[in-house]
Amino acid sequence: MRIGRTLSPAASPIYASDLIYGLKGLLSPRSALECFESDIKKKYGVLYCWLLSSGRAALCVILEALHRLKPERDTVVIPAYVCYSVPSAIIRAGLKIRLCDLDQNTLDYDYAELEKIIESDGGGNGRDKILAIIQVHLFGLVADTAPLKKLIGTHSEIAVIQDYAQALGAEKNGQLIGTEGDVNFFSLGRGKAYSTVEGGIVVTDRKDIADSIKAVLNTAARYTVFETFSLIAYALLLATFQHPLLFWLPKSLPFLKVGATIYDPGFEVKLMSGFQAGLARNWAVKINRFQHRRRANIERLDAALAALKLEKYSSRKNGLPFLIRYPVRLPDAGRSTKVLKDSEMAGLGMANTYPDTINHISELRGYFKGETYPNAEALVDKVVTLPIHPFVTRRDVMKIAALISKNIEACGRA
Ligand SMILES: *Cc1c(COP(=O)(O)O)cnc(C)c1O
Repeated sequence: MRIGRTLSPAASPIYASDLIYGLKGLLSPRSALECFESDIKKKYGVLYCWLLSSGRAALCVILEALHRLKPERDTVVIPAYVCYSVPSAIIRAGLKIRLCDLDQNTLDYDYAELEKIIESDGGGNGRDKILAIIQVHLFGLVADTAPLKKLIGTHSEIAVIQDYAQALGAEKNGQLIGTEGDVNFFSLGRGKAYSTVEGGIVVTDRKDIADSIKAVLNTAARYTVFETFSLIAYALLLATFQHPLLFWLPKSLPFLKVGATIYDPGFEVKLMSGFQAGLARNWAVKINRFQHRRRANIERLDAALAALKLEKYSSRKNGLPFLIRYPVRLPDAGRSTKVLKDSEMAGLGMANTYPDTINHISELRGYFKGETYPNAEALVDKVVTLPIHPFVTRRDVMKIAALISKNIEACGRA
């Protein structure tokens, strides 16, 4: 067990002043929620917005709403390497998962594979059964939406859901990105670009989808008093223990399962509480500040790792990206295991993000007999993310880069 300065893999600071706004939100929930909702609508220029208890709750509501509109379709296409919340939401919505392999160089879909899936009509889960395709912007790396739009082309019955869970506030060419799907969602969970402890946002311009979402949310639950107090307690813990000087403590308590990725289709779908909406006050200003710090660290890492010729996914083609974690692809599984072990000892917050591909989640294995996703599996083995959050200092970045360099050079380059 490590005692002393320890970085978390990702973090969005919550300050005492945020907690005060949170408590104000608790006292006048309607105005806090309306204020946050109208702010999102205005900033993103969208017609419809809903605030929910988490990103997976947002996705689940979206899926139920789409399924109401097209009950004959029940299959949702997702990348084989993604946050476990995504398959959890699909199963919770009573739908089927169809996996597609990724492109190792973009972390987006392998479009040749996706085309095969869209063009196939056999096996009971082909084109006519596809309800939606989810495009994911992993680590805040904004994926190009044009290839997917082009591929869907005439199959306009298939909805595109953009998963911007890790990309709130991300921009491309100076424009906020977040509304390119038929329907889109963000997460405000711990470790995302901006956090209200937990939370999710749905945005869309499609009236038919909006009406269906309204119908789904008609019966939605709210936070109970007990749940609200748990949220407040958790916010206090985050405000205290996310800091690198104290993070070793919660990390060393195994029952807290800090950073664990779990598959759980039994999560609750609730409307956001006034407390969370209060925590979101000034989110745009705060997220700007966080991004500034994150991007300074991205630039430092880019410079420090330049000589290693690793795939860093932070190409400057469209300007510096809005990452919340900095992914690098190491040459092989052995080295990524070694890097993670060294990082653990030194408290440097490197992580392997998702423990396995979706077809290997034990509860889901029955669905994917005999299917293999070689690129997704290679990503599980080789991709390591480096922390760049606002608590990460220049000195941390130097240590992180030195650790990566040492492990790459020691074994010779592949
Ligand atoms: C975090 C995340 C989600 C789910 O968001 P929660 O708020 O944690 O439920 C969905 N998709 C991706 C890609 C995520 O990273």
